[in-house]
Amino acid sequence: MNNADLEMRRLAATPRGIAAMTKIYAQRAKNASLWDVEGREYIDFAAGIAVLNTGHRHPRIVNAIQAQLECFIHTCYFVVPYESAVSLAERINSIAPIEGKAKTVFFTTGAEAVENAVKIARVHTGRPAVIAFGGAFHGRTFMGMSLTGKVPSYKAGFGPFVPDVYHVPFPSRIEGASVQDSLAAIGRLFKCDVEPQRVAAIILEPVQGEGGFNVAPPELMRGLRALCDQHGILLIADEIQTGFARTGRMFAMDHYDVKPDLVTMAKSLAGGMPLSAVCGKAAIMDAPAPGGLGGTYAGNPLAVAAAHAVLDVLAEEELAERAERLGAELRENLTQLKARHPEIAEVRGLGSMNAIEFRDPQTGEPLPSRVQKVQRNALEEGLVLISCGNHGNAIRFLYPLTIPDEQFKRALGIIERAVKG
Ligand code: PMP
Repeated sequence: MNNADLEMRRLAATPRGIAAMTKIYAQRAKNASLWDVEGREYIDFAAGIAVLNTGHRHPRIVNAIQAQLECFIHTCYFVVPYESAVSLAERINSIAPIEGKAKTVFFTTGAEAVENAVKIARVHTGRPAVIAFGGAFHGRTFMGMSLTGKVPSYKAGFGPFVPDVYHVPFPSRIEGASVQDSLAAIGRLFKCDVEPQRVAAIILEPVQGEGGFNVAPPELMRGLRALCDQHGILLIADEIQTGFARTGRMFAMDHYDVKPDLVTMAKSLAGGMPLSAVCGKAAIMDAPAPGGLGGTYAGNPLAVAAAHAVLDVLAEEELAERAERLGAELRENLTQLKARHPEIAEVRGLGSMNAIEFRDPQTGEPLPSRVQKVQRNALEEGLVLISCGNHGNAIRFLYPLTIPDEQFKRALGIIERAVKG
């Protein structure tokens, strides 16, 4: 088996709509290393798109899944429930950035968590509309797509979308949008498009993921919280990409002095197993009637067992602190690189959620082709990098937080050469 043959078979057997970012085929993986079918080792700075904060196949997680395999694989939580899901909900309730008593419900994918957060918000408020941000990514289902603020690839041709979804600009220094611009745009929506009394929720990623690792300024979060309190609107933090120690705290919302009403989680929650959750204020979470929430696989026992182990590992290995330290080292390196390469227009991020954006230094035009070249150079040297950004002109760095120091340093050297080359 080789990569080239598999690539041909992939293109023949699976639709082009799933566009693979690399042409290497995985055979096995361990912590931050990935081996392809030709036996070549790569350093994995994609981590399954922010899923593997605890690395590939952490022994604690593998053991937890194996132990659960010996008990049962599936019962369906709403047919015969199990203690592990109850205790996982209790653990999440105790760490989530929610004020007062919290409750948690499990699903399978991130998009499903987003769908259900909106369902819960609609029932609780009795209102239909949702406000989201330009550049946001909330999933590929119909509500997820509707909330997503980027047309090319994600939305083009798939409409019509869910009605009563409105977008306002996300603050961005490089795109020239301030916090004031974002809040003023919501004010304009209330005047031109939808009265605040019809808005159920405002949803945002505290650090936009697919949109380019744009960090929400604290004044934005405070402004949104104030608007929500004024009008009885719920604030939903989509922490699917930012969660579980990635930003240097357990949740990105832990960096802010206001709290959301609902939080969506997925990705690194379960170390590679498909599990997502919505956690929120108990009174809000209890709004849907019995039977209103669920899913055959929601809270799958193997995934729940993995999530317990993930929470153990995050605490025992102090991975939030490590995310802070590794992120600071990376940002320092990237900032030095920026000084030598004027086409790096910005280094930005929070904790270990960092990106560099490429633009033409003269015209300010986004440079997605420069990103692709850096990715190719890096892959040739054995480092998997992935892109992000509204124009595909940024590179994000999503290494496992468990990556050994020596391997991390080696990756920094590859990044430097890949940008130069
Ligand atoms: N929200 C955010 C912030 C995400 O980053 C993603 C996935 N990239 C999703 C939602 C959708 O998650 P999933 O692909 O598991 O449906």
